[in-house]
Amino acid sequence: MSFRADLHVHSYFSDGTMSPIELLNLAKEKNINAISITDHDTIEAYSDAVFQHAHSIGVQLMLGVEISSELFNENVHILGYNFDITNKSFKDFLKKVVEKREQRNRKILEKLKNFNIDISEEELEDFTKKIGASKTTIGRPHISQLMQKKGITETFQEGFDKYFNDKGPCYVPGFKFSPKEVIEEIHKCSGIAVLAHPHFIRNRKIFDYLLENNIDGIEVYYAKLLPNIEARWERFAVKHNLLITGGSDYHGDIKPFNSLGSSWVDLNHFNKLNEQL
Ligand code: AMP
Ligand code: FE
Ligand code: FE
Ligand code: ZN
Repeated sequence: MSFRADLHVHSYFSDGTMSPIELLNLAKEKNINAISITDHDTIEAYSDAVFQHAHSIGVQLMLGVEISSELFNENVHILGYNFDITNKSFKDFLKKVVEKREQRNRKILEKLKNFNIDISEEELEDFTKKIGASKTTIGRPHISQLMQKKGITETFQEGFDKYFNDKGPCYVPGFKFSPKEVIEEIHKCSGIAVLAHPHFIRNRKIFDYLLENNIDGIEVYYAKLLPNIEARWERFAVKHNLLITGGSDYHGDIKPFNSLGSSWVDLNHFNKLNEQL
């Protein structure tokens, strides 16, 4: 099997269900040569112990993060790769993200009360601590998991479908940075900024905006996207001279339909990302 790098994977520090070490072991088991743990809004997966483990089992670990932003009432996820992890301004930025998330979660919980769903902030915080999530990242996926655990909903998906998908009655917009701010923060710590899952974007103006604001790359290969759709994004990347990334968006048990390694980039694309350093 030739070289494969899955550059979009979530650990339990955000809304995945596995630890970074478990993810590396699973990659090894599946003969995946490299992964990037791109947790939402947190880089806590990247401890020395995790890098050492990656090294000892021979799986390459690329530094990554998936940062939430909002534009024209849409969620825009920006992947950051190969940034300087010691950069203080990036850590400060992530602190501001936590504050916004706390305010937003409070509002989501308030809206759920209109449906006789009573979850306190403390309960949500206790739950996320127990499952190992980072404070930086707590949001809708955790509220949905807690609702399922409490028997309010039957599945993880039901929380989104009934209450807080982007058009749902308990959705709360307006507590995220703009993509421009996120791209700038990634560039400040010498990272590469990549648009995640471009096929989720509805408003075409968002692409013009991202190109104007110096996006470096686009996630062409994604989970089980059809080859003809991937080919379309590949043409887009070539046309605009963008780096190409890809990955499974693996979240473990909460989204079992995406398996680790279901999407990946080859050595050529992987090397191009590292050449930017
Ligand atoms: P948040 O950061 O609180 O806005 O939550 C965003 C995360 O929730 C995404 O990264 C997905 O993992 C998940 N998500 C968003 N929309 C849906 C949906 N309609 N169904 C299932 N999961 C979703
Ligand atoms: Fe997620
Ligand atoms: Fe995403
Ligand atoms: Zn993701």
